[in-house]
Amino acid sequence: MTIAPSAISQRAMGVAESATLAISMQAKALRASGKPVIGFGAGEPDFPTPSYIVDAARAAVDDPTNHRYSPASGLPALREAVAAKTERDSGFTVDPSQVMITNGGKQAVYLAFQALIDPGDEVLLPTPYWVTYPEAIRLAGGVPVAVSTSDDAGFQVTVEQLEAATTSRTKALVFVSPSNPTGAVYSRERMVEIGRWAADRGIWIMTDEIYEHLVYGDATFHSMPTVVPEIADRTIVVNGVAKTFAMTGWRVGWLLGPADVTAAAIRLQSHISSNVANVSQRAALAAVTGPMDAVEEMRVAFDRRRQTMVRLLNEVPGIECADPGGAFYAFPNLSGLLGRDLGGRRAETTMDLAAFLLDEINIAVVPGEAFGAAGYARLSFALSDEDLEEGLMRLIRLAT
Ligand code: PMP
Repeated sequence: MTIAPSAISQRAMGVAESATLAISMQAKALRASGKPVIGFGAGEPDFPTPSYIVDAARAAVDDPTNHRYSPASGLPALREAVAAKTERDSGFTVDPSQVMITNGGKQAVYLAFQALIDPGDEVLLPTPYWVTYPEAIRLAGGVPVAVSTSDDAGFQVTVEQLEAATTSRTKALVFVSPSNPTGAVYSRERMVEIGRWAADRGIWIMTDEIYEHLVYGDATFHSMPTVVPEIADRTIVVNGVAKTFAMTGWRVGWLLGPADVTAAAIRLQSHISSNVANVSQRAALAAVTGPMDAVEEMRVAFDRRRQTMVRLLNEVPGIECADPGGAFYAFPNLSGLLGRDLGGRRAETTMDLAAFLLDEINIAVVPGEAFGAAGYARLSFALSDEDLEEGLMRLIRLAT
């Protein structure tokens, strides 16, 4: 049975499918059909969740208290642990009542905009951006205002650019460091400039710290409300266990904000999904209160793969790749591959190129168009060293 398109709400029709999820699903389907697909598309660690976390979940399954509804705001023990972890890792002091546990960082992003944005409010969104932000802003009735950054500028926005994009309707700024998709990590100095500017202008900041522990080389993570305390009462922090602890499938994240903003998000949550699965929350509790050795081991492996990826990408004629300081993505400029003869075919856009690469050499990359940055692509280095080298060698052979 088909349903007339007009039956679907304008709101739902206006949302684009997540390009990153679509690419990784396509790659998984091709692999299942027997193709030797190497996926650079996925935004998730390839490691299993550390065993002490899995053990905590196993114990939680046997405890009948976890078989029942719990508060929509999150388990009290986890809210307290997140507040303590925030103090430990960011030097930012929050009361547990300011913490709300969500179904992954993605739901925290959604609720942050639902709690803050009225129809017509503008939200400054530096590009390249993670695919979910513009959709979550639009779903709240807001207007994403793209502010372009380039690889020459290290994909970092300046106060001058933000000022130029600001109008009387500007309500908030999205600030992400380390960034998905570029891996850019802002310097403390630039953060101070941006935070002070937002405080002077009375603009809110939604800052996504989900990659806080994945920084490399000279890059250091800083938390906006710690670096600029005067913006703390107008900041919402989004975070979660997915990337740090290899827990993407467990679906636990959180938001922190001024008490009234958090309370508003909790009211919404109480009608949307109630509590996050208790077993997952217990696993997250073990993660945020436990040792960080396993996290460091994963970080070291990502760093090694990062270096291999940047080196090999720069060996591909037509590709230029800057060093990502954080997260687990490289964001090379592929414009030198466009319009060129590649194995008898020619791609004019990075969107075409991504489809061609999947087809021809069975490697999955996410085209820059998905992030508001045509001419680039995102390649995750959260895959095994062997697959990473094999996939990039295929690219080198194709383009040489
Ligand atoms: N923020 C950023 C920047 C991300 O890259 C992701 C995952 N791709 C998330 C939030 C959401 O992560 P999750 O919902 O799995 O916690």
